[in-house]
Amino acid sequence: MRKPLVAGNWKMNGSLESNRKLLEALVSGLNTQAEVLVCPPAVYAHSVLEQLAGTAVKVGLQNVSDKTSGAFTGEISPLMVKDLGIEYVIIGHSERRAIYGETDEQVAAKFCALVDAGIAPILCVGETLEERQAGDTMKVVAAQVEAVLRTAGPERLANFVIAYEPVWAIGTGLTATPEQAQEVHAAIRTLLAEHDEAMAAKTRILYGGSMKAANAVELIALPDVDGGLVGGASLVAEEFQAICHAAG
Ligand code: PEP
Repeated sequence: MRKPLVAGNWKMNGSLESNRKLLEALVSGLNTQAEVLVCPPAVYAHSVLEQLAGTAVKVGLQNVSDKTSGAFTGEISPLMVKDLGIEYVIIGHSERRAIYGETDEQVAAKFCALVDAGIAPILCVGETLEERQAGDTMKVVAAQVEAVLRTAGPERLANFVIAYEPVWAIGTGLTATPEQAQEVHAAIRTLLAEHDEAMAAKTRILYGGSMKAANAVELIALPDVDGGLVGGASLVAEEFQAICHAAG
């Protein structure tokens, strides 16, 4: 049985003061069996960790370096992330791929670096609108997943999460229909099963793309959707809390 995971991707938003208020409202009245994660900008990780100490809400990050230490100005090592006690880091978000030119190979290198540091990657994959309209959704998603499976090798696949995030649904208010989401999630699980059936059965596949309280119940109820990666709605405590409650 896969435990649902609801992860909030705050992106480059927040301040010490607004984070504090958001978390205060989120934690009060939160009552879910799902695993709940917030991913603030790295500069706020420490204060968010302090505020959430003793609560059930975990803290993740949005990106990481594939290097462990040295002359890499501005980068954050997976070892530093581990040092803070952080369990999850998002990698391969479409904004990083599109705006910062991250390639499948770089994402795969980050995946390996995280696993080697004892952190679970949340690997984002997803097609653009043009790719969907050309009928290439599964080709694109499979290539993104395969690049990681190939590079990581079977020994690094014990603890990771995939987030299927159709790029056309991120921050647009458009959401994949339940049929569209289930189709891709099931295909990803089949792809994982071709490598290792037990790993495929236990690996959580989150949906991301304009998830909100109003559509979360229907999406998370799908057989191969194991929770959500939530952007905009994770900045509104009541919305994010409702999504967590929808997950169980
Ligand atoms: C995201 O950026 O991971 C995301 C899913 O954003 P939104 O929920 O705002 O579409």
